[in-house]
Amino acid sequence: MPLHGKVGEDEQEAEVDINPVYVRVAGRQVPRYRIPAEGMLPDTALQVVRDELILDGNARLNLATFVTTWMEPQAAQLMAECFDKNMIDKDEYPQTAELERRCVNILGNLWHTPPGSQAPGCSTTGSSEACMLGGMALLWRWRARRRAAGADAVQPNLVMGANVQVCWEKFCRYWQVEPRFVPMAPGRLHLTGPEAAARCDENTIGVVAVMGSTMDGSYEPVLEISEALDRLQAERQLDIPIHVDGASGGFVAPFLHPALLWDFRVPRVQSINASGHKYGLVYPGVGWIVWRELTALPEDLVFRVNYLGGDMPTFALNFSRPGSNVAAQYYNFIRLGFEGYRKVQQNCQDIALHLSGEIAKIGPFELLTDGSDLPVFAVKLRSEVTGYTVFDISERLRQRGWLVPAYTFPENLTDTSVLRFVIRNGFSADMAGLLLDDIRAQVKALETHPAAGHAPLVPEKDRQSFAH
Ligand SMILES: *Cc1c(COP(=O)(O)O)cnc(C)c1O
Repeated sequence: MPLHGKVGEDEQEAEVDINPVYVRVAGRQVPRYRIPAEGMLPDTALQVVRDELILDGNARLNLATFVTTWMEPQAAQLMAECFDKNMIDKDEYPQTAELERRCVNILGNLWHTPPGSQAPGCSTTGSSEACMLGGMALLWRWRARRRAAGADAVQPNLVMGANVQVCWEKFCRYWQVEPRFVPMAPGRLHLTGPEAAARCDENTIGVVAVMGSTMDGSYEPVLEISEALDRLQAERQLDIPIHVDGASGGFVAPFLHPALLWDFRVPRVQSINASGHKYGLVYPGVGWIVWRELTALPEDLVFRVNYLGGDMPTFALNFSRPGSNVAAQYYNFIRLGFEGYRKVQQNCQDIALHLSGEIAKIGPFELLTDGSDLPVFAVKLRSEVTGYTVFDISERLRQRGWLVPAYTFPENLTDTSVLRFVIRNGFSADMAGLLLDDIRAQVKALETHPAAGHAPLVPEKDRQSFAH
């Protein structure tokens, strides 16, 4: 979350005006940055807060986020009924704990945990927390291995592509692990086996492979990375585990790419995380992680809470959390079933492929990906296009309500700027048609704009680099 600071002296006494039709005494105002001395009626408070929120973007037109923006009313109702159940009170709410257990098992099965393994797992607030837990398990195991070998354990490193989500940078900084980023290169937009293996040594706690790069939606080749690490082990006796960050792909690949080997069928994969609130189709606030077997999760990371007179093992960074998201995840599993999830993801993919294909035909765009891995794709402008940038297109689409982010790739590829489209449940073929019309119209306007070819419309300092 943004770190907020204290407002300036001149703003200290700012007030929120209340529309006179909501209150009996017209002209009522409440302080903006201090708690009001007295309260107000619930309907008045509701209206004031709703009015404030009107300026937020329209979530359904948001092609920037991976996170669920639409659920069925039944799911929303169920969530409202469970907001008051604290996930951590396993003793008071044993059935919420049971639903969590079922979800962990359902995911473990979808991800092919080995027969006979106990495959521990848990819900989290999202993939970021799940990645922290996965990373900690790798770090603890590496320390134990080093100590057992009588070696020092002071300079751990983690190998991953420069395209990883920011949570991995956070993990490395907070736990003092050296991040070894494999830079992107022209034509190589994510991690490959040889590049990963080349950066591993005896201090490598693991390799992160991303199933669904946030930058362009492409899957990293988990099997190829694993085979490269097998060769490394044969040559140098380094046994490097893999964590798969399946934030999006964990809920896409099992349904759309069942033959692809990326999950626990690859023996080197020790843990997998996914965001229930991305393609798991639940509103924000839920992630998952599953480990391959009990030994993949060091015992001293586990805390025990009271549960029906006994104790229940837990692993989390936080404590209290509403039970609603877990209930909603379970609702989705039984409501949609395998076939329902497959249809939803297939529909997203069909729309992504159609949209990317049509965008490619407009002329100035070149596809970096087409949406055939995740239903997510990135496009850049051809090098001949000089009169405007992807930032100009993004800004013009925003005027029409569409949120399509433009950003620059990281180090080594900072001369590549792209537009990224995330197609989610709730974005219909009709909406794709409307968006296409707007893109065509904006491109045309930019190509005939009097300033085209002179100064960029969105100045360089206002262009974003990749932030999420
Ligand atoms: C979104 C994302 C994350 C972070 O997930 P949250 O659920 O938003 O915390 C991590 N990794 C990848 C690949 C992602 O796409």
